[in-house]
Amino acid sequence: MRSTMMDQPLLISSIIRHAAACHGSTEIVSRVSDGSLHRTNYAEVYERSAKLANALISWGLQSANRVGTLGWNDHRHLEIYYGVSGAGFVCHTINPRLFADQIVYIVNHANDRVLFVDPSFVGLVAGVRERLHSVERVIVMSSANTMPPEAIAAGFECYEEVVAAHNSMFDWPRLDENDAAGLCYTSGTTGDPKGVLYSHRSTVLHALAICTPDVFNLGEGTTVMPVVPMFHVNGWGLPHAAPMVGARLVLPGQKLDAASLYWLTTTEKVTFTAGVPTVWGSLLDWIDENSADIAPLQCVAIGGAACPQIMAERFHKLGVDVIHAWGMTETSPVGLTNRCPASAPTALEGMTHPNQRLKQGKPLFGVETRIVDDNDGPVVHDGTASGRLQVRGPWIASTYFNFPSAQTDGANDGWFETGDIATIEEVGTVEIVDRAKDVIKSGGEWISSVTLENAAMSHSDVYEAAAVARDDERWGERPVLFVVLRPGSTPSKEGLLSHLGTRVARWWIPDEIHFVDELPHTATGKVVKATLRSRLKQ
Ligand code: AMP
Repeated sequence: MRSTMMDQPLLISSIIRHAAACHGSTEIVSRVSDGSLHRTNYAEVYERSAKLANALISWGLQSANRVGTLGWNDHRHLEIYYGVSGAGFVCHTINPRLFADQIVYIVNHANDRVLFVDPSFVGLVAGVRERLHSVERVIVMSSANTMPPEAIAAGFECYEEVVAAHNSMFDWPRLDENDAAGLCYTSGTTGDPKGVLYSHRSTVLHALAICTPDVFNLGEGTTVMPVVPMFHVNGWGLPHAAPMVGARLVLPGQKLDAASLYWLTTTEKVTFTAGVPTVWGSLLDWIDENSADIAPLQCVAIGGAACPQIMAERFHKLGVDVIHAWGMTETSPVGLTNRCPASAPTALEGMTHPNQRLKQGKPLFGVETRIVDDNDGPVVHDGTASGRLQVRGPWIASTYFNFPSAQTDGANDGWFETGDIATIEEVGTVEIVDRAKDVIKSGGEWISSVTLENAAMSHSDVYEAAAVARDDERWGERPVLFVVLRPGSTPSKEGLLSHLGTRVARWWIPDEIHFVDELPHTATGKVVKATLRSRLKQ
């Protein structure tokens, strides 16, 4: 029997319509490409998204056509999110930190018809323009007086002129909620990047879920600063979640250095922010060096890579709650969160205990988790036994966009293979032990590179550490540690080894320690361990 409820689709356009209607004057502060701050609000973003939607229609775009963006976190990117998806097209965010060849591959694979480009990427796009076969027009996210001459020479159009030329009355279509709304390619550390197509439904449900109290706890009283880029997995859903609940938005643009982030946080009274560990490491160092405090900030979500225990402790000392979040491009991205309040003595106690690491947490309602062994058999959820983590849910990808071998790459019997190794407690708390391909197998036993790195990073001289396997005749593999020291520290292998000796099992102690100036990172801030492994082979 059918219910008597209305069949109202969950649509991205409904988020911005709601924000304009109920939180229209709520401020959005946006750092634009010339470094200045632009102030707008949800009513204005709604109106300008409608103008953009009219522009896209006038250019002859058809339902589900892809529209690419190469942009920072700013108000124009936000308008594009809503104008494109709301009108029934697919907003394809592209990571500008990828190599030019990868960007060409991604744009061509997605068949993008229009590209929106921040002025800082005009040179990049102009350089490969001839190879972008499907692209009909390039729009520079700028006003007429800040259009780079190179953009004008290349025949690129001006965003503000496009917006000004169109009407703000737009009849948002009643789309199927399962239609594609967004597209993001995985970083592609192995093989070609693969596209994950988000639906209206998955985007709305994910945004609703991350607003809840034990996830990001967002509401009208929150000022959200997404440091996590809008070009990667929809900025962790924050550009959809904030307008949904009328939270104030602070968009940091291109200036992501510690001093700029600190300044923006304190002057704009940011209460919630989110990003990868590397960003926070520099911010915390800056705060220490300047004996500053970060008073307005109440909560930071840390994810994309394991949050080092020492990082959580440093935030706690500043009175800032930490949410350790786990996710993937394929999981929209938030799948697990672990809220660690600065004030809860049990959490603090737990975290300073050497064996109790900061776990990735419980699945959000909607996400299910399980771990399996090498034969795909179930592994018990006892917090100790580990296995391959699989997930499923309404915002988890079941396959990739236009990718023939997708089924074998991702989906597995209705579950998505994350590529991570994890333990799960009886009550559902998950701990990511390692990336399957990064785990070190020594004498038949697993060594978690993440645990080793955490132990190394708890040393006061260590800024960043990465553990990888080196082939070993006797043991199969042995761990090797790469370490970046804090400025002014002197490398001491003996000091670091004895520090590790009190924190991990004896046979986990790395055979070699290499002090390096920096570690290789992916475009989304993860350490590229494949590069370190090949360095070792050489
Ligand atoms: P991506 O799809 O590029 O965002 O990468 C997803 C991968 O990042 C996951 O499969 C994990 O290996 C890793 N990751 C994300 N968040 C965390 C976290 N909190 N702890 C450990 N690993 C993480």
